[in-house]
Amino acid sequence: MGQLIDGKAVSKEIKTSVASEVEELKKSGITPGLAVVLVGSDPASRTYVTNKEKDCASVGIYSEEYALPETTSQKELLDLVHTLNAKKTIHGILVQLPLPKGLEEEEVIQTIHPLKDVDAFHPENVGRIMIGNCRFLPCTPAGIMELIHHEGISAEGKRCVVVGRSNIVGKPMAMLLLHENGTVTICHSKTKDLKKICLEADILVAAVGRPKFITADMVKPGAVVIDVGMDRDENGKLCGDVDFSEVQHVASRITPVPGGVGPMTRAMLLKNTITAAKIQNGIPVL
Ligand code: NAP
Repeated sequence: MGQLIDGKAVSKEIKTSVASEVEELKKSGITPGLAVVLVGSDPASRTYVTNKEKDCASVGIYSEEYALPETTSQKELLDLVHTLNAKKTIHGILVQLPLPKGLEEEEVIQTIHPLKDVDAFHPENVGRIMIGNCRFLPCTPAGIMELIHHEGISAEGKRCVVVGRSNIVGKPMAMLLLHENGTVTICHSKTKDLKKICLEADILVAAVGRPKFITADMVKPGAVVIDVGMDRDENGKLCGDVDFSEVQHVASRITPVPGGVGPMTRAMLLKNTITAAKIQNGIPVL
């Protein structure tokens, strides 16, 4: 039976260390601040934003919420981002995606100042991830690397397979594993022989968005399995991209859903906000 990788417990440790960093920064007169922008009334996005604010409060980070109506124009949204770029008390800006139809996400992302881009979606920060000179790491892949490190797992020389090639998870995940000397394959919906490729993986990351997509016959015995998915099963219950009940018997270690990658993503946003506050105040980031 595979050992559980407890993202909830690891994220708690990270939050404790972030809270003590916030305390230190406050002694120097710096209160890290995060602005979260929500456009429209999508219930999932609303929940994410509320959770982000709660997380900030729990570690002493100042947060501001901007809840804009669905009818917000591109110009109004960009004007708000410009205002937040200039605001001294705000070190990190997060615009909750996806945006309602009619708004241009790419332009909004590119308008966020790269030093305040705590999601690491700005092309400048994406480029830095490619060259391995990151300022901020995208929250989900960074959280996964923290989990892997915490477990004492090294990617070096390992066969790593990432299923999914989104800009927010799959691609940066593959880059981070590559920077740590993994031999990485990225799979997607056009990949042939997916099962065969997955079976080669020592570290298998599933970021597909399909409930229980990775089945036990796709997993090499003893592999480390990381499940990014946040899906709903046939009964509407939260589940991952991995068929956990079966795969746990094959994997050596596995993240559960919930309680695996999700809490790590949330913790990494807090870490990025501290990093942003330090960079903007000329404090070295260790
Ligand atoms: P996405 O943008 O929809 O990307 C899904 C990827 O899966 C695409 O690259 C797609 O390939 C690939 N794919 C789809 N069907 C496939 C198939 N049959 N075989 C192989 N690959 C296939 O999703 P995402 O934003 O990366 O998110 C993935 C999952 O992670 C979702 O469940 C999301 O809710 C979850 N998520 C969780 C967290 C967290 O904190 N836990 C954070 C972010 C996302 P193509 O590119 O060819 O279409």
